[in-house]
Amino acid sequence: PYDVLIVGGGPAGAAAAVYAARKGIRTGVVAERFGGQVLDTMAIENFISVKETEGPKFAAALEEHVRAYDVDIMNLQRASRLVAGGKLVEVQLADGGVLKGKTVILATGARWREVNVPGEREYRNNGVAYCPHCDGPLFKGKRVAVIGGGNSGVEAAIDLAGVVQHVTLIEFSDVLRADAVLQRKLKSLPNVTIIMSAQTTEIHGDGKKVNGLTYKDRNTGELVKVELEGVFVQIGLVPNTEWLKDTVALSRHGEIEVDARGQTSLPGVFAAGDCTTTPYKQIIISAGDGAKAALSAFDHLIRSSVA
Ligand code: FAD
Repeated sequence: PYDVLIVGGGPAGAAAAVYAARKGIRTGVVAERFGGQVLDTMAIENFISVKETEGPKFAAALEEHVRAYDVDIMNLQRASRLVAGGKLVEVQLADGGVLKGKTVILATGARWREVNVPGEREYRNNGVAYCPHCDGPLFKGKRVAVIGGGNSGVEAAIDLAGVVQHVTLIEFSDVLRADAVLQRKLKSLPNVTIIMSAQTTEIHGDGKKVNGLTYKDRNTGELVKVELEGVFVQIGLVPNTEWLKDTVALSRHGEIEVDARGQTSLPGVFAAGDCTTTPYKQIIISAGDGAKAALSAFDHLIRSSVA
């Protein structure tokens, strides 16, 4: 068995692998797609000490760093079930294989929920964005829309209003679901327009970049086109934890519940990054979280009888 078996090969899983391997213990990483979400990212400008890089380049660097150590990387393998309770924790794979670890670190990340309208996929990274902390500054002085009036949408709109020229917040229902204090803040901003009962039907572009958005007024049925340069989709981040539903404690949003050390509800099972309740889903935070989970796993190993 592995001393530390890591599920997920994004920034959290890669950091966990480096930290575990540096303890000289047997380390394995199983990942559906090594690199994770950064593979879908263009510019990365907020990983401290790297002023600017691109997602695929960052992912290649993650892999190179992990490969510098004695780590088994099992790429293109999906975990489908976790079995704990015995001496070893078992990870069953979709292809029928079974891996075992004295400890397991879950680092399966998350995915942004999409609005599923024409133009969204086509202009992803060319005007369609999901992360205001990451991509907000790219729209400095421009016009953007935020789709979604929950806490994340309203927070994004407030955040962006300080950077961009104008924000249009588009909410599907006839109420904003965000906390009252956020709504008050939003309504006090001069460069924000709030549109309720509006269903986004299309994101337009010139073939290269976004130049508009159409929504349907759900009261009148009228189609309205807004000219803008960016669209932030803020209708939810879904953790990749469906396969863990019956084993480890999850929050009501499906995030793995962890304590300050990355310990989950199961002894010997730790978790890190976007798939957990750790707030703020960012590369640097996931990487730090992965390091922490690996140190916690090591601590667990030296204290347990499963030597
Ligand atoms: P992920 O990166 O999601 O990695 C999860 C890993 O687990 C992957 O290897 C995946 O294949 C694997 N996996 C999932 N399910 C299974 C399974 N069942 N079995 C096996 N493996 C599985 N953050 C920033 O800090 N700066 C940015 O500029 C930035 N830009 C972004 C742009 C875009 C378009 C997106 C989508 C995200 C961006 N982020 C950015 C967020 C950042 O990418 C994430 O916070 C970070 O990648 C999370 O790392 P993670 O390791 O927790 O999860």
